[in-house]
Amino acid sequence: MRSELYIDGTWKPSSDGKTFEVINPATEEVIHHIAAATAEDVDLAVKAARRAFDEGGWPKTTGTQRARYLRAIAAGIRARQAEIARLEVIDNGKPFPEADWDIADAAGCFDFYAGLAEQLDNDPEEPIALSDDRFTSRAVREPVGVAGAIIPWNYPLLMASWKVAPALAAGCTVVLKPAEVTSLTALELAAVAEEAGLPPGVLNILTGAGPVAGQAIIDHKGVDKLAFTGSGPVGSKIMAAAARDIKRVSLELGGKSPFVVFDDSDIEKAVEWILFGIFWNQGQVCSATSRVLVQEGIYEPLMARLIEETNRIRIGNGLDDGVLLGPLVSKKQHEQVVAAIEAAKAAGATVACGGTRPEGFDRGYYLRPTVLADVPLDSAAWTEEIFGPVVCVRPFRTEEEAVALANDSRFGLAAAVMSADDARAERVAKAFRAGIVWINCSQPTFTEAPWGGYKESGIGRELGRWGLDNYLEIKQITKYVSEDPWGWYIK
Ligand code: NAD
Repeated sequence: MRSELYIDGTWKPSSDGKTFEVINPATEEVIHHIAAATAEDVDLAVKAARRAFDEGGWPKTTGTQRARYLRAIAAGIRARQAEIARLEVIDNGKPFPEADWDIADAAGCFDFYAGLAEQLDNDPEEPIALSDDRFTSRAVREPVGVAGAIIPWNYPLLMASWKVAPALAAGCTVVLKPAEVTSLTALELAAVAEEAGLPPGVLNILTGAGPVAGQAIIDHKGVDKLAFTGSGPVGSKIMAAAARDIKRVSLELGGKSPFVVFDDSDIEKAVEWILFGIFWNQGQVCSATSRVLVQEGIYEPLMARLIEETNRIRIGNGLDDGVLLGPLVSKKQHEQVVAAIEAAKAAGATVACGGTRPEGFDRGYYLRPTVLADVPLDSAAWTEEIFGPVVCVRPFRTEEEAVALANDSRFGLAAAVMSADDARAERVAKAFRAGIVWINCSQPTFTEAPWGGYKESGIGRELGRWGLDNYLEIKQITKYVSEDPWGWYIK
C-alpha cells in the first residue's frame, strides 16, 4: 500500500510530515497511514501540472500518442485488477465482486477515452460557413489546461478514472484529490501511470483533507478547470470558487432518484431491479433509486416480496464469499444513515424491514438493508439524499400522479420506470426531469453514455464524448483571404 503524494513524477511525504489513518470499515481497524497534503504540496502539484502543460510537450502530443499512454494505464490496471479490487474492499467496504467490476470499468474507461483521443486527430478542425466570402473560419478544439479534480469515496478508482481519462485524452494535465476515507486506489492509479511512463507533472495525485488540500486546489489560480463529484454543499463551494476566478467547472452532485413501477410489471423483475437500484454499493450511489413508487394494484404483493428478499441479502465483510452488502464506508456515514432512519420514524414512517445493526456484527459499520413505508412527502427521508441502504416505497394511482411525485424534487440526477407497456414507459421516460433515465432497470452505467444531472444534481456531463468536451476549449480561427485591402481607415 502506498502512502506518499505523487507530485511531478515523484513520491513524497507531505510538506509538514502529517498523515491520516486509513480504517477498514468492516473491522474498524487502522490498516495504514497516508500523507495529508498541505496547501504547499498542492502549490507544488499545480505548478508541476502547469509546467507540463505550458512548457512540456503534453498538450502538443497527438491524440494517438496520448492514447498509447491511456491504453498502457488501462493495461496496468487490468494486470493488477484483483489486487486493486482488494484494496478497494478494505478501504471502502464494498463486496469484492462489486469492487472487481468497478476496477474493470475503470480500465475500460481509459481504453474508451484512448479511442476518443485518437479520433481527435482525425477531425481536429470544423470548417464554419461564413456569410462573408472574404474570410474563412474554422473551429478547433484544444485542451482547457490544468484540471483540478476532486472525487468522493463511493467508487474511488472509478470516479478518478471518469475524470483523469478524459482530461488526459483531451491533452489536459491533472491534479487529483481523492476522498480522505478512500485514498488507497487513487495512489495505485498514480503508480500505474508512472509505470506507463506518463511524463512528470501530467498527472499529480494528492491525498488529504477536503478543507485543506481540496480547498487549496479550488483556490489555486494555476488551475483552469474544476471537476467535482460529491455533495451539494461542497459543490456549491466549488462553484463559488470557480465563479470568483472564472474557472471552468463541472459538478456531479447528489440525487433522490425515483423508480416508478406500473402494475403491469412482472413483480419478480421489479423487486430485483428495486434491490439493485438501492442496495448495490450499500446504497452509497448518487443515482440510487431511493424513492420507489408502486402502482396500487401490485403494491401489497410487491412489498411482501421486497421485504422477503431484502431480509435475505447476505451481509458481511466484502472479502467473504457470497456477501452482497458490506459495511458503510465510515463511522460518520453510518451515524448519518442511522440518524436519517430515526428521523424518518419520528416523522411517521414505518420501518418495513431493517433499520438496525445486523445481529452478530458488533464491529464494523454495518446496517441492515432498510425498507421504509408510509414516508410523509414532506419528510427528509422522502426529500433528502440518505446515501445508504434505505429505500422509501409508496403507492400511486395514476401515471400523472407518479410523474408529478417523481419530479417533485430539487434533484434530477436519475429516474427509472418499469412497465410492460412500452409506449407508457417511453412517455414517462420523457416526462422525467432527470439526466439519466432507465427503462425496465435501474443503475447499469456505460462509459459510452452521458452521465450527469438536471436541477441541483449538477452541471455538465461526464462519460461518453460529452466527458471529453468537459476538458476542451473551442477556438475559432478566422482568416482574411481576400486580396483586397480592408479599407476602413486607409482608403
Ligand atoms: P463530499 O462533498 O463531502 O466530498 C467530496 C470530495 O470533496 C472529497 O474528496 C472531499 O475531501 C472534498 N472536499 C470536502 N470539502 C472540500 C472543500 N472545502 N474544498 C474542496 N474539496 C472539498 O462528498 P462525499 O461524502 O465524499 O460523497 C458523497 C456525495 O457525493 C453524495 O452527496 C453523492 O450523491 C455525491 N456523489 C455524486 C455522484 C454523481 O455522479 N453525481 C457520484 C458519487 C457521489
